[in-house]
Order: sequence, then C-alpha cells, then structure tokens
Amino acid sequence: MSADIIDGKAFAEGVRERVAIAVAILKEKHEFTPGLAVVLVGDDPASQVYVRSKGKQTIEAGMASFEHKLPAETPEADLLALVEKLNADDRVHGILVQMPLPKHMNEAKVVNTILPEKDVDGLSAISAGRLVLGEEGLVPCTPTGVLMLAKDVRGDLSGLNALVIGRSILVGKPVAQLLLAENCTVTMAHSRTKDLAAHCRQADILVAAVGRPRMIKGDWIKLGATVLDVGINRIDAPERGEGKTRLVGDVDFDEALEVAGAITPVPKGIGPMTIACLLHNTIVAACRQKDVSIPTELDK
Ligand code: NDP
Repeated sequence: MSADIIDGKAFAEGVRERVAIAVAILKEKHEFTPGLAVVLVGDDPASQVYVRSKGKQTIEAGMASFEHKLPAETPEADLLALVEKLNADDRVHGILVQMPLPKHMNEAKVVNTILPEKDVDGLSAISAGRLVLGEEGLVPCTPTGVLMLAKDVRGDLSGLNALVIGRSILVGKPVAQLLLAENCTVTMAHSRTKDLAAHCRQADILVAAVGRPRMIKGDWIKLGATVLDVGINRIDAPERGEGKTRLVGDVDFDEALEVAGAITPVPKGIGPMTIACLLHNTIVAACRQKDVSIPTELDK
C-alpha cells in the first residue's frame, strides 16, 4: 500500500483563487476592498521572507496590503501605538504582527492590543477563548489549514480518533479544539507523554506539530491513517552536495507512505496553507466588520 500524497500547495492555490473571487465580489457588490496590515519588527531573515510572501499573495488576491517595517530597537510603546492606529483604520480589516518580536517586547501584550475583530492570526487571548467556547471568532491560520486538509481527505470527521502531538498555542492547542469541534475523539501528546507510539497507533488522524525531524516512525502509524505533518525541520543533506540542507517533517515520510492512507509532504504540505488561510481569515474578518454576508464562493 502506498499512501495518497496530499497536495497542500495545490489546495492552497485553490483557497487563494476562491479568496480572489470573493474579493472581486466584495468590490463589485459592496464597494470595498479587504485590507491586511502586516507589521514586521527587526530584520530576522525568515520573518522577512514570510512577510514578503504575505504581501505578494495579498496583492495577487486583489486585496489591499499595508506593510509596516520597524527597526529592532523600536520601543514597545511605538509598536502598540501603531497597532492602535491600524485598529482605528477602516481600510484595514486584518492585522498581523510577525513573531518573534525582539526580546524587549511583550508578545502577548502586543497581540492582545489587536482588536479581536481584526486578529486574523487568531492568537489573542480573546480569539483563543472564543475558539474554546465555540463562539464566532478568528482561528489561527496553520490549524485552519490542517482542518481543511483533514476534511478534504476524510469528509465527516465525526467519531474519528485524532492524536495531536504538540501543545503550542500556535498549532497544537487550536488544532485539537478544531478537531474536537468536528466531533473527533481527541488526544493531545507532548514531551511528557508516555508511549507515544501506542497513542499514534490508535489515531485515524495524526497531526504532528513538534519540530523534531522524522520522529514519528512508520510502524507507529495506524493502517490507513490520515497524517498531517506540520513540522518543518532543516537537516543536512550531503547527498545534495557539501553544506546543503533540506526540509523534512516530524514524520518519517518514506516509512509512513507504506502505512498511512494519506499524508502531507514537507515541504508543499501544510506550509502553503498558512498564508492561504490568512487571506481567507481576512475576508471573513472584513465581511463581519462591514456587516455583509461572506460570499459563498469563498468556501465552495
Ligand atoms: P513549539 O516548539 O512551540 O511546540 C512543540 C511541541 O512539541 C511542544 O508542545 C512540545 O511539548 C512537543 N514536543 C517536543 N518534543 C516532543 C517529544 N519528544 N514527543 C512529543 N512531543 C514533543 O512548536 P510549534 O507548535 O510552534 O511548531 C511545531 C512545528 O511546526 C515546528 O517544526 C514548526 O516549524 C512547525 N510550524 C509550521 C508552520 C507551517 O507549516 N506554516 C507554522 C507553525 C509551526 P511540551 O509542551 O511538553 O514542551
């Protein structure tokens, strides 16, 4: 048996196409353009690449993109003032402050300053609380991408055993909440979990969000399971030449292929879903702020 490889890149392209259609409808019918503001503090190279990519994809979808780049030594009060300004700007429907922030800043304080209605990264205490309470809110982007792919593969998730490995605020916890809301029986594993392999063997849906290269072995995986590998790990790849590296997930992909029913590769699996879901969230946020219905084309 060889698992189906879930093409997250193609799926994300589909999401972005639907976002672009929704943007066109909102412009035509309701005469406004959804806008996303991204704030980058400092010059972390990975964050710079990520922010550039967000800006590019926002514009490609026909949305308004507002980029704010601040030097690393910016006082926290100045960043908070910028967030307040964006909160009050009615051209801006979504605000994302790129993490990590420089050490002298309190990330939680900054994130919690973003109006919950504009918190398209879904990381504020209010957004997290709404998710747990099952109230309408904005959900973190990578977890939303995980759920979209899981539903695409399995359809109704009700009653399935789901194991989420990793309990971060960014990925593990919101993924578990989303799966619970879909009526999965959810188990959460973390660094203190005993006999992780045994938990994995029960899982119809296995989400790995750890950050350890190929930690999950093929013989841990239940036959036919849907494996969603969030991990992004850079490892040495001498086979590609001296000093070369490559990306691998938390799951041993080659081994898992033999057992799983479907699996996301790394790269081109969950990764591309994150920005697509950010754009999706921005449309949702914009429609709620404008009190117009979300175009049905967004989720066809
Ligand atoms: P964190 O480091 O915040 O969390 C890692 C989690 O893994 C923790 O809950 C930790 O447990 C758990 N863990 C560590 N070691 C083990 C172990 N041996 N067995 C079981 N659990 C373990 O990471 P993130 O959630 O932020 O990210 C996880 C991975 O996902 C990373 O590789 C990251 O790069 C990737 N990622 C990818 C994204 C994308 O595709 N767009 C977006 C975000 C992240 P404990 O709580 O006990 O310490």
